[in-house]
Amino acid sequence: MATETEKFVGTTRKVTAHLTQNEGLSFEKSAPGKKAYRLAALDVPAVDPKSLLGGAAREDAAELPELSEIEIIRHFTRLSTWNYAIDLGMYPLGSCTMKYNPRVNEFVSRLEGIAEAHPYQPEELSQGSLGIIRLLQKCLLEITGMEAITLQPAAGAHGEFTGILLARAYHTAKGNPRRNVIIPDSAHGTNPATAAICGYEVVNFKSNERGGIDVEALAQAVNEDTAALMLTNPSTIGVFENEIHRIADILHAKGALLYMDGANMNALCGKTRPGDFGVDVMHLNLHKTFSTPHGGGGPGSGPVACKGILEPFLPVPVVEEASDGQLHLNYERPQSVGRVRAFYGNFGMFVRALAYILANGPDGLRQTTEDAVLNANYIRKKLEDVYELPYSTPSMHEVVFSDRRQTRNGVKTGDIAKRLIDYGFHPYTVSFPLIVHGALMIEPTESESREELDLFIDAMRQIAREVEENPQIVLDAPHSTRVSRLDETTAARRPVLRWKKQGAGNRQ
Ligand SMILES: *Cc1c(COP(=O)(O)O)cnc(C)c1O
Repeated sequence: MATETEKFVGTTRKVTAHLTQNEGLSFEKSAPGKKAYRLAALDVPAVDPKSLLGGAAREDAAELPELSEIEIIRHFTRLSTWNYAIDLGMYPLGSCTMKYNPRVNEFVSRLEGIAEAHPYQPEELSQGSLGIIRLLQKCLLEITGMEAITLQPAAGAHGEFTGILLARAYHTAKGNPRRNVIIPDSAHGTNPATAAICGYEVVNFKSNERGGIDVEALAQAVNEDTAALMLTNPSTIGVFENEIHRIADILHAKGALLYMDGANMNALCGKTRPGDFGVDVMHLNLHKTFSTPHGGGGPGSGPVACKGILEPFLPVPVVEEASDGQLHLNYERPQSVGRVRAFYGNFGMFVRALAYILANGPDGLRQTTEDAVLNANYIRKKLEDVYELPYSTPSMHEVVFSDRRQTRNGVKTGDIAKRLIDYGFHPYTVSFPLIVHGALMIEPTESESREELDLFIDAMRQIAREVEENPQIVLDAPHSTRVSRLDETTAARRPVLRWKKQGAGNRQ
């Protein structure tokens, strides 16, 4: 009898095969003269476009695809089925926290008074929007245990940049911007990039055998030239830094700051607060922890929370409450690092994150964290006999395996990830963090039910068996998608993103 996973894979295959056959071999659908519209006969005098537009009028007809309405609809619907989304299934992309984005967030963000508010509206007509900003700030300060916050940055990396700019402004105001930022070798690549773009030298710091910070070595590395340590907690291997207090003390003793990359806040929310364990400045990813959509390159939001010592340097404007309860935007902040983003940031994301926080409440957020950690540990327990665990340290919201056992049969983490597509799942994060050779980084998030986790585990175990019995099937995967192994370098370096008329160069 077919297992649940085999049935599931069978169905995906059938659907994909049907779509692939219907698609034919060519992506090109255009044929001269086809139309998806019919205009009524002209009932006003015709006008020469040149008389209206002068030199701006185009000489030749635009080269656009010519298709019928049903062909267009089928084209886009078909394309959408070639994509993968959290709304289709589990998306265990480690470090990215691909949790479900509740529909209530979307509903609230589309309410007319919210969606149609304009950033140039006068303050007295923007009290509601400013109130949303202010309430979200209060919630995030409560969650992080910090003292001041800006919502302006548009992504996690942008938050890092803003946070290190604050650190730089702080040190500069004290007379010396300092020279370097210490970054563990397990860090997200954006951390060293941030330090460098803020004018700091990056001091690469080796993780210890637990995947954490060696406190004695850190004490040696920190000196009066150190502006900050950028620490991800829990680290990118999903391990909580339990020496965090001592780490903060070592930095503070030398006048340096502790920056926390808070992208992994999904493991801490409602449990512990960075402000309480010595962090001076951190960013959050609303598009991870607080369930605003991400993954399509759309707007993100990376608020930066800090201690009072950094507050004078926050980007302008800041929302302030006057004694009469009216909210104002204050631009008169002489020590501010300036603006980092147009207006106040990605307002629609604030609305979604606030809806999520209020819908969950403190107990709900704590439960979310517990479920996220439980799910990751469930997967760890169910897979640790077939995939190698490079660190035995307890996992938090994500678990990292290595492909060491599978490489004996010539199969690497990237191959296993591709085979996972055949089983109907988005791949995990491949080959990251760099400190684990051949990493499989799995973050299920709290969104997944026991049934979905079991399907995933079943798929991962079957793949491990295939690696033993018939590695070629894994090496050639995916078999169920329209295109299989792509030239990933060219796809990244020279992506073909625009339709061009057939014969006019590329036809992708
Ligand atoms: C996602 C992530 C970032 C960067 O966030 P973006 O919004 O993608 O810029 C930084 N650090 C860690 C640990 C992350 O997981």
